[in-house]
Amino acid sequence: MLVLKFGGTSVGSVENFKKVVGIVKNTVGTKIIVLSAMSGVTNTLQKISNLLVLNNFKEAKQEIELLDKRYNNVIKNLFSSNTILSRAYTLLKNHNNLLLSFIKNGFSEIEEKVIMAQGELVSTNLFQLLMEEMDEDSCLISALDFMKIDKCGDPQMDTIKEKLLKIINKNPKTNNFITQGFICKNEKNEIDNLKRGGSDYTASLIGSVIDAKQIQIWTDIDGMHNNDPRFVDHTFSIDEISFDEAAELAYFGAKILHPQSIIPAKEKNIPVLVKNTFKPEASGTLIHNNTRSIKIRAIAAKDSITAIKIKSYRMLMAYGFLKKIFEVFEKNETAIDMITTSEVAVSLTIDNTKKIDKITEELKGFGNIEIDNDLSIICIAGDLAQNNKGITSAIFNCLKDISIRMISYGGSNYNLSFLVKTSDKIAVLNLLNKGLFKPINKIKNSILV
Ligand code: ADP
Ligand code: ASP
Ligand code: MG
Repeated sequence: MLVLKFGGTSVGSVENFKKVVGIVKNTVGTKIIVLSAMSGVTNTLQKISNLLVLNNFKEAKQEIELLDKRYNNVIKNLFSSNTILSRAYTLLKNHNNLLLSFIKNGFSEIEEKVIMAQGELVSTNLFQLLMEEMDEDSCLISALDFMKIDKCGDPQMDTIKEKLLKIINKNPKTNNFITQGFICKNEKNEIDNLKRGGSDYTASLIGSVIDAKQIQIWTDIDGMHNNDPRFVDHTFSIDEISFDEAAELAYFGAKILHPQSIIPAKEKNIPVLVKNTFKPEASGTLIHNNTRSIKIRAIAAKDSITAIKIKSYRMLMAYGFLKKIFEVFEKNETAIDMITTSEVAVSLTIDNTKKIDKITEELKGFGNIEIDNDLSIICIAGDLAQNNKGITSAIFNCLKDISIRMISYGGSNYNLSFLVKTSDKIAVLNLLNKGLFKPINKIKNSILV
């Protein structure tokens, strides 16, 4: 079995919906097709929720009406059969009524998650109707019936497997199962989600529990690039990358993949193929276990980083001291990204600052605390263990005029990361692109200069 995930742009318009049907038709075998919400819809749903939290009912209603208009325009051009069109109208009417029903006082967090789930529920229903109209066999299955997270937000793999396999086995003749990315149920059985960009994660979780032959991520670019194409010109698609390298890049800001989406595939050794919906003939990027080694494969950047320095005059490196510091973060459910130590100070970074005040207060018991905001982690991924002579000098030679706040190297063989001011991020990514990569030709791999 294969998993095919299509992102927001891939289902963002009538034309694109039809392209997706074409790709599904051309793919042989049994597939689980995971869809995101149409592009921009989850942002709109987030905006509506934010307005409802503020009791700004007038603007919330306007946004709901605009969304309804967009959907109605899509279905008018998507379907030609009157029966299918009238089913689509009913679907959209119910959807619109649901959103309007939240215009009331006392909007809750649970209701916000119900709203956030609607984008994927609508896109998958429309896609299933389109498959039906085009006489393609398909079966719509609700992710809410099998995708389950525990109270820490982690997927409950055994439950997901058991529930999903039961659904699949009930439909032995179906070739095309359609389901929603991103959405799930939590431990209280409420509707929840896997965080923004979570459809990639849905795809790899499904791939893992069904032991898929391959997980395909269909998006709006011809594979993973060597650098962030939103900020750097002359990036290029990389033909292959290892699970470890891809996991580092995804975690450290390569938006093309959800931060956690590589781990389930890596654990089961299921290749992930990143493809372009708008250029299916391009080979894309294969993420797998058996890559030829390249010193520097790609670069990514993660924003909204806060650095915390704990400066102590005594005891810092005494055993047990770091444990006490880590316990503060554990107690406050805040993950640490980077860490560096010296004899008198420890610096670490976090990206979730919800509990920063409590953390700072508790850390004050250990020394002086300095906090820096608006930082970005730059992550360089590659096979940095092999013959690593010259790699660090090549990297930092590019950055002679840039202030670097922290450096982390040696934590894994696949990642060197450092911290800079976010205002320097674009310059840093471009300097590294110029200094470290020399395209051999337009689409093939690059070498370290
Ligand atoms: P989808 O909606 O299909 O999930 P996303 O917008 O989440 O698509 O991810 C694709 C986008 O990720 C690309 O259009 C590109 O702008 C951005 N991106 C960031 N880093 C990279 C990278 N290293 N390689 C390719 N795309 C990247
Ligand atoms: N629709 C969700 C989002 O925009 C999930 C996804 O697209 O992966 O974040
Ligand atoms: Mg995405």
